[in-house]
Amino acid sequence: MPSFFKRILIASAALLACTAPHFVQAQSAYPDRPITLVVPFAAGGPTDVVARMIAIPMGKSLGQGVLVENTVGAGGTIAANKVAKSAPNGYTIFIHHMGMATAPALYKKLSFDPLNDFEYIGQVVDVPMTLLARKDFPATNFAELLAYVKINKEKVSLANAGLGAVSHLCGLLFQSQIGVELNTIPYKGTGPAMNDLLGGQVDLLCDQTTQTVPMIKEGRIKVYGVTTLNRLSALPNVPTLDEQGLKGFEVKVWHGMYAAKGTPKPILDKINAALRVAMQDPSVKQRLADLSCDIAPLDKITPAGLKTHLEAEIAKWTPVIKKAGIYAD
Ligand code: ASP
Repeated sequence: MPSFFKRILIASAALLACTAPHFVQAQSAYPDRPITLVVPFAAGGPTDVVARMIAIPMGKSLGQGVLVENTVGAGGTIAANKVAKSAPNGYTIFIHHMGMATAPALYKKLSFDPLNDFEYIGQVVDVPMTLLARKDFPATNFAELLAYVKINKEKVSLANAGLGAVSHLCGLLFQSQIGVELNTIPYKGTGPAMNDLLGGQVDLLCDQTTQTVPMIKEGRIKVYGVTTLNRLSALPNVPTLDEQGLKGFEVKVWHGMYAAKGTPKPILDKINAALRVAMQDPSVKQRLADLSCDIAPLDKITPAGLKTHLEAEIAKWTPVIKKAGIYAD
């Protein structure tokens, strides 16, 4: 072997010998500082509720704070891009819902690839949705709602959390099934959207039980139905949209946790172990059960469990979205 290449080989081996221990040390020391858990919607909304609920037990398991950071906009894609471009060191992790699967069809110029720019930590929880109105909206039940919006569609407003948010998707499915197009009002999350619903500034909203159950129980908003095929234990007297005529209407919001591509496996394993402990935490289990949420089974709180589900969901929603002709330039 020419001496030039030999020298290169020796230098490379020496460099590796110098850096390898630090690299291994970094992995074994992880985490040695707080971890940022990026939430792609505004504080107070359902994704934020889930994130803050599990951040505490995850932090206890990891021995470092897990700090929630709300990075909003574009239905969660701004946050997803930020995490995809973050340092692959396990100090920036991400929780997002099925918007990760709808973004490729909705956004023509998506700045990240859900299937190649992330490491997969695991599925988290499935959350049902509720169809809501401001407290003094004229319709007192679903039949009256349908009649009212068909006559007054020009003036009825429907809030959502932006293109790709599940409130957007649920609203689209609702409008297409009843054959009425309403005036949609986008927000940075359904946290702020809910504030306007409570304040009477917007008429309707589809949102997740992680935010809506307490307000429904307190009578601060109207509810017309739930988006599951069976009634919810948290809201036993609220009929499903399916039983009220929207046959097969089902939206359950699955959530996953991600890290940047290239995050070392020993670090991903530590984050995954902390997530699994958090989802088995008695307080987390009780709170999510009270909100009729389904915690992912342990065999789905795995990298393969999340990636396989994400691939299937992209395949499921892409034709639906393309057929509906919905996209952002
Ligand atoms: N999950 C979003 C939030 O937490 C709302 C949505 O996707 O509709 O604001």
